[in-house]
Amino acid sequence: MTLRVVTSSLNVDVSLGNHLRDRDRDELCTDSGGCTDGGLCTLAPCGNIITMDLTLPIVKDASSVSLVEQAYQTLRRSIVRCDFQPDERLRVDELSRQFGLSSSPLREALNRLAQHGLVRALDNRGFRVAPISIEGISDLTRVRLLIELEALRDALIHGSEEWEGSVVAAAHGLMAIEKHFGTGPLLLDEKWSDRHRSFHMAIYSGCSSPILKVMVESLFDQAERYRRFSARFRKSQRSKGSEHQRILNAVVSRDSETSLELVEGHIRSTERRVVEGLLAKQKSGE
Ligand SMILES: [Zn+2]
Repeated sequence: MTLRVVTSSLNVDVSLGNHLRDRDRDELCTDSGGCTDGGLCTLAPCGNIITMDLTLPIVKDASSVSLVEQAYQTLRRSIVRCDFQPDERLRVDELSRQFGLSSSPLREALNRLAQHGLVRALDNRGFRVAPISIEGISDLTRVRLLIELEALRDALIHGSEEWEGSVVAAAHGLMAIEKHFGTGPLLLDEKWSDRHRSFHMAIYSGCSSPILKVMVESLFDQAERYRRFSARFRKSQRSKGSEHQRILNAVVSRDSETSLELVEGHIRSTERRVVEGLLAKQKSGE
């Protein structure tokens, strides 16, 4: 099933449960089982295909769904905060012992993570954490700009008064912790990461498209993993406090032009700093 999304700034095909494809490149994965290189497939002929799960989960019974959800959230958090190395093998039996979860929900969770680009599902060879590369962050940034700016544009038009309130509340939580930390290494702080995600997701929650919202979350998690991975290798930490304050002001004023400009700058500066960290890592030979 394919849904075509075409707007003046967004020109992509969204295949439910399969691929998001840059139509200008006119490339499609020829793997009959679907692209298994979740997220950032760089192998020919996949090109820049980004795989995301846009399907709703098939509801079995409440307990099995909650176990899958529990396994999914546990693994998602661990992978995003880089408890596992890029490309590391994820063995179901080991994960089962580590997290105290049975293999069936773990397998379902891993398949879901593969659809969200955090894990690679290999044909009959299990799962690996998605790789990290400079090409990968550049491609991710390109798609983030398409999807996140479209979601923002939409949220500014359709967001309700309650939405505005939720954005202000999330910003308050984020800024409180930013004040507390001063210029410390916020990027590696769990609480800051949670509140940072909540702030950006609160903004996008006003978007009227459920598909865009799923895509935004998935892309944000992928970018967060890059941020955290590269932060360890950077010399300086960026204080994002004033950027978030400016984004908040523009969003609650429904100033579309300024909001889009600020969020675009925010996304691009993440790319620059991730590349800086990855180059420093290469240089150090780690
Ligand atoms: Zn931010």
